[in-house]
Amino acid sequence: MSTQPIIITGPFRQLLSMDNLPLKGSLKDSQLEILEEAGIVYQNGKILEIGLFKDLCTKFSSANTEVQLMDSDLIVLPGFIDPHTHLCWAGSRENDYALRLEGKSYSDIAKSGGGIWDTVTKTRNATDAELKRLLDLRASRQLANGITTCEVKSGYALSLEGEIRLLEIIRTINEEHLVDLIPTCLAAHIKPKDFEGGSSAYLEFLTKNFLPEIKRKSLSNRIDIFVDEGAFGIQEAEKYLAEAKIYGFDLVIHGEQFTSGGVDLAVRMGAKSVDHLEVIDAKAIAQLAASGVVAVALPGASIGLGCQFAPARKLLDAGCCLAIGSDWNPGSAPMGDLLIQTAILGTFEKLTNAEQLSAITFRAAHALNLNDRAILKRGYIADFIGFPGRNYKEILYQQGMLKPTRIWKRGVQKKL
Ligand SMILES: [Zn+2]
Repeated sequence: MSTQPIIITGPFRQLLSMDNLPLKGSLKDSQLEILEEAGIVYQNGKILEIGLFKDLCTKFSSANTEVQLMDSDLIVLPGFIDPHTHLCWAGSRENDYALRLEGKSYSDIAKSGGGIWDTVTKTRNATDAELKRLLDLRASRQLANGITTCEVKSGYALSLEGEIRLLEIIRTINEEHLVDLIPTCLAAHIKPKDFEGGSSAYLEFLTKNFLPEIKRKSLSNRIDIFVDEGAFGIQEAEKYLAEAKIYGFDLVIHGEQFTSGGVDLAVRMGAKSVDHLEVIDAKAIAQLAASGVVAVALPGASIGLGCQFAPARKLLDAGCCLAIGSDWNPGSAPMGDLLIQTAILGTFEKLTNAEQLSAITFRAAHALNLNDRAILKRGYIADFIGFPGRNYKEILYQQGMLKPTRIWKRGVQKKL
């Protein structure tokens, strides 16, 4: 049927399939499936088989087969998934950061003209070409760090036309770039200062005008809302999410970063994930563990703001599905390096290699409702990354400073 050749790639010193692991709860490194001297066979961007490289070469020897020989020690594992970013913005907020270092609070800075609104102003003023260039650049940096699928939120325009413009830009770069960008509509980031009316009226405006337009243009199937102090309240958020659900959107909540209530809302609304969780308490942890909602920790925001991490150890021990996102954004999480942040959270929260790697592969894919990637097995998308070395534990041991040297995206190989 297909004219594309079958490709056998390897041998890899170690292959971590991330297969046969539970979606929820704590994990031991001994649960990881590790193949030595392994190979991957793929065609048309999909994995056909993994196994011993030698055996695969025998099994798949035919005229339509190409062998891609690795000439150095590599550890291979699924491409990373970043389930939470805000990559589509213009401008910079280094002055906000400096003010925080001087002791000013995030909300004080926002009140005095910095914060999200500052980025909204700069993003609104940027041209399409500039926003595309910036998003493309950030997508390339993600890819270089081993991220093959990256969620991207709108939320820095906060007007009907502006948010649609951002989602269209995300769509364009997704089509042009090797990385898969998963768009999420975050028009409910904060109430824009130039909206006449309160936050409930703004959400009603979005419900009436925005949700049908996003649906009609198929710009995103995910709706996110920032539920916290300085953003939106529980009751108004619930109303908005209920409407979004009727339209068939997947729901996501920024919750429990500064104040509680977001988890209860996420569980009641059947959200795909609740992201942040820095202030989650024992009761909410138990509630989340009993639900199908993914807990997304965002250590980059804790590092950027100098505040506590989400209690990842407790979340896993209680039986939650834990994913980790970079939250890369110009305000609270400017670093934008998922692996470094994962390793830092891992060392403070005592997370095993298996737990950290699961949180940025198949568990992160689950947060995005994607079940076709982030595990190396037959039928899955051929997205995988190779790190130099002989032992997979080196990856997190170097706390994110060891970078992948080869990346395969839907089978397209890129040397770095
Ligand atoms: Zn965020």
